[in-house]
Amino acid sequence: MITCSDSRINPALLLNAQPGELFITRNIGNVVPSYLIEGSTQAAIEYAVNVLNIPKIIVLGHSNCGACAHMYHEPKEDEPILSHVDEWLKNIVPAKSAAMLEEHQDSSKNIFELTAKHNVVVSLQRLMEYPYIQERLVKNKISLEG
Ligand SMILES: [Zn+2]
Repeated sequence: MITCSDSRINPALLLNAQPGELFITRNIGNVVPSYLIEGSTQAAIEYAVNVLNIPKIIVLGHSNCGACAHMYHEPKEDEPILSHVDEWLKNIVPAKSAAMLEEHQDSSKNIFELTAKHNVVVSLQRLMEYPYIQERLVKNKISLEG
């Protein structure tokens, strides 16, 4: 499972899972970065798929995600500089673009919630770019869920 660092999310409770049943990697915004760059999320995915042979990857996004809301935040002068956060959240830019397009077509939708939804979709799309996941998808040895 790939989910957000948000303390309100309790994956084991949500899925009624016992210790040993879930392999979880968490980060700000439940992001799956590109396969082409190095990082701890990619390492966790690689280990889970290639060593643990997990049958399914769940990307669990959530409502009221601070990472998605931060995408629309205009920093003020007295706020701390969040250089690592800002760099990390560049991973959410494609989701923001998709959300803005959808909101443009239907302004009754909440832009933050749209961003959170598209962020899950983008993460699933990125997972499909990982060669060893592609290989397993073709053989029906793994499934992806958002
Ligand atoms: Zn979040």
